[in-house]
Amino acid sequence: MTLDANIKSTPPKLMQAIRQAMAGTESVQERLDDFVVAIQSSMKVKVASIYLLRPGAELELSATEGLKKSAVHKTRMKPGEGLVGHVALTARPLNLADAPSHPLFSYRPETGEDPFKSFLAVPILRGGRTLGVLVVQSERERTFTEAEVEDLLTVAMVLAEIIIDDERVGGKKAALKGITLAAVKPERFEGKAFAPGLVRGSAHLHLPPVAPANLLAENITVEQNRLEEGITILRASVDAMVSGEAASLSRASKEIYETYRMFAYDRKWVKRLREAVSSGLTSEAAVERVRNEHRARLMKAKDPYLRARLHDLEDLANRLIRALGGEQLGPGARKLSDDAILFARELGPAELLDYDRKKLRGIVLEEGSATSHAAIICRALGIPLVGRADGILDMIETGDAVLVDGESGVVHIRPLQSVEDSFDLRMNVKGELARAYEALKFQPSVTKDGQEMSLQLNAGLLVDLPQLDQVGADGIGLFRTEFQFMVSDFMPKLKEQTALYQQAIDAAGTRPVTFRTLDLGGDKILPYIDPVPEENPAIGWRAIRIALDRPGLMRYQLRALVAAGANRHLRVMFPMVTTVDEMIQARALFNREVDRASALGLDLPKKIEVGVMLETPSLAWQVSAVCDHADFVSVGANDLMQFFFAADRDNARVSDRYDPLHPAALSVLKFIADRCNMNNTPVSVCGEIAGRPLEAVTLAALGFRTLSMPVTGIGPVKAALLKLDAQDLAKEIAPHMSVESRLSSLREIVQDYCTRNAIPI
Ligand code: PEP
Ligand code: MG
Repeated sequence: MTLDANIKSTPPKLMQAIRQAMAGTESVQERLDDFVVAIQSSMKVKVASIYLLRPGAELELSATEGLKKSAVHKTRMKPGEGLVGHVALTARPLNLADAPSHPLFSYRPETGEDPFKSFLAVPILRGGRTLGVLVVQSERERTFTEAEVEDLLTVAMVLAEIIIDDERVGGKKAALKGITLAAVKPERFEGKAFAPGLVRGSAHLHLPPVAPANLLAENITVEQNRLEEGITILRASVDAMVSGEAASLSRASKEIYETYRMFAYDRKWVKRLREAVSSGLTSEAAVERVRNEHRARLMKAKDPYLRARLHDLEDLANRLIRALGGEQLGPGARKLSDDAILFARELGPAELLDYDRKKLRGIVLEEGSATSHAAIICRALGIPLVGRADGILDMIETGDAVLVDGESGVVHIRPLQSVEDSFDLRMNVKGELARAYEALKFQPSVTKDGQEMSLQLNAGLLVDLPQLDQVGADGIGLFRTEFQFMVSDFMPKLKEQTALYQQAIDAAGTRPVTFRTLDLGGDKILPYIDPVPEENPAIGWRAIRIALDRPGLMRYQLRALVAAGANRHLRVMFPMVTTVDEMIQARALFNREVDRASALGLDLPKKIEVGVMLETPSLAWQVSAVCDHADFVSVGANDLMQFFFAADRDNARVSDRYDPLHPAALSVLKFIADRCNMNNTPVSVCGEIAGRPLEAVTLAALGFRTLSMPVTGIGPVKAALLKLDAQDLAKEIAPHMSVESRLSSLREIVQDYCTRNAIPI
């Protein structure tokens, strides 16, 4: 370990003075005054001033030692105006020997700053935002030393922590009560609604940077050693990631790790950390300070490459803080407040399920897509999710009040009372709608032209089961069995699998439950099985492909299903079947388990139906053939559409580029429905589109009679179907579905039809 020779080994006097100022419990003004006095005397300057950003984004002189006190709360400037405004705008320190000669210098006579030449100002940063500016000035013309700049940056950071901390506790400490900062002003973001619902709560940042408890180091040498150790552990963990799996990594993933490693070894980053620790901060506080500096700079970057870099640095900073805290560098237990709205850049399905769902009210992502599994799980659990809220993470702090509108995709942060009021009103209206759906609960879903529809639930966990009765679903059309595997830390035992399947069948009573065998691979990764790195996991070794190559796991699961179905009605289907032959092989595996149970004299299911999921275009063209080997067909429209349009459902840039109501897609769906109906093979749709009223009425017009959907879809879809004449809509859309059609979507046509016919969509 090499350290600079001139590093100080005791906390500077300034830090001791700041510590004292922090210990006080005075009012706002007194505390700020203490700060400036401490700075002025220990830095041996003539002036120390604090400018804070007020609502309306004006900087206001809030405390000073050395300028005229009468100017406090009077002198104001816009960011960008004068030297102080310039520092606020650029979020960078400004160190001038002769400030009045600087072109940006703007003279404020009321402050009496005429005699002061040298000028050092640093931004007060928190969460990438500028809360204000801290300034010191002296009469003598001189440039402040690097150490002095560091000291002032450190003081600014302590100040920022106090401001934010005080805001968070609602000014309880009375430290800054009465001062509202622009940093806590309301913000409105427009994202995309990926799971419906209106919800209010308080923000919780996913893997939030742990705010350092101690900002100031007791002993700088000890702290320097801690930092070096932390960096060593961090680098070792990143090295292990890169070299451990390097041979087998796909190019894309490898690049990510390589870039990550580059950051971990970035000399400038480490140098800034060392400097911050040498100025008296704890290692954690140093990480925060450097993170804030990066955020302030990179946040402004429009370039996605630079912004992605910011996320890498954030990630690395989090990792280093965890290393410093002695934590293992793996995912930890995640706690939530009672009304949490989770904010994250992106969230995998397993990550989402790491959180206590009872406390999780809503989710806001900077990225995400409608068919990502996080979105699907949210819809299943009735958790509103807004995605693609670009830049929102830079504006939010854990604890901020939030309104999430999962209908329009709008998120309000720290909303004004008037916004809250109208939101409440809408929540009430929604409540009324929910009551209207409730009233339809026991009504059969029969269209106006007499088509009997079956509206079923997509489910996967125990928590989903009570929803069957809550919304009056006609069964479970898709039971995603892999969810149980994804939420456990260990492979679920045969007994556990059997128990869950039994509970699902019991909860459904006489209604059917369709179990889909494990759909692993793609983004569904089990924590206890090493993923096989693949270039294109969605079209890689997943679902039935794994099951047929390594039948052990599926046979085990089929055994559990056969056991759970004893004396009951058992329906099982296989995901991602691409050829008829795969269906034949899968069915043979199932039959072996039934034969085994029979040979052992175990009770067998009263009725068995084995179906196929139709989620690949190739199988669509062999649908009649596969009907010979399947008791039913369930169209997995999420995957079918992703493969049909060659658009990754998990890639936000392309996932909703193509409309499933594209005439070509509808023609394929109609082809499937027609062939199944001709073969007397029951057919259903279980992708997300089944749960949206407009799409659902279209599916009914195409000939589908069973739709399986997230719980939130049942009420609205039933309300729409009750008003639909399916044959009439079929006639309406038929001319637009010819191969000559050049339309990209029939959405407007269906929408218009529904409006004319008072179908609520
Ligand atoms: C589908 O692909 O449409 C489907 C229902 O399965 P999953 O979303 O689980 O892939
Ligand atoms: Mg699928």
